[in-house]
Amino acid sequence: MNLELLKAQAQSCAACRLAEGRTQVVFGEGNPDARLMFVGEGPGEEEDRQGRPFVGKAGQLLDKILEAAGIPRGEVYITNIVKCRPPNNRTPLPDEAKACTGRWLVREIELVSPQVIVPLGAVAAEFFLGEKVPITKARGNWYEWHGIRVFPMFHPAYLLRNPSRAPGSPKHLTWLDIQEVKRVLESLPPKEKRGVRAVNQEPLF
Ligand code: SF4
Repeated sequence: MNLELLKAQAQSCAACRLAEGRTQVVFGEGNPDARLMFVGEGPGEEEDRQGRPFVGKAGQLLDKILEAAGIPRGEVYITNIVKCRPPNNRTPLPDEAKACTGRWLVREIELVSPQVIVPLGAVAAEFFLGEKVPITKARGNWYEWHGIRVFPMFHPAYLLRNPSRAPGSPKHLTWLDIQEVKRVLESLPPKEKRGVRAVNQEPLF
């Protein structure tokens, strides 16, 4: 099994009601051997249209965050809890998240085998923490999921709604968080080593 085969299998999935309203299944993408995996909530309108994860406004902000931290998007793997767009961008229901993660996300993680997983937002964090924790409390802390380091961060869509860069703002905290992720990745043995960059206190995105 590899990611391409898994993606091909997912295209015809109708295991939950989200199949009814989707244009297409939006599978994860990125480096199949990534050290760092981001897991969002689910596809939005643009993702549903293009069939790729994180290509809308929130995805563009995630690109900027990665670029500011010196993490090439091509080196990471990006996916979602559910692979089909929930109607009107509502939060995926627990049975939808369960159906999708069990079929696809867990197998994506097995195949990519990342060293660090960053859940973006409360829905993704809940899957890895095994309980509902407000993202304001979960972010900025390290957890473990089946031996993999997990570090929840705010969802970029939340940052779009809270654009302040003031100290203590979600954007400012995210800037610190992504640098913490980078610091830990660089402290781990390879898969691959990268150069260390000093931690900046001001957001660059
Ligand atoms: S959301 Fe996931 S489980 Fe539901 S139909 Fe889409 S791919 Fe299948």
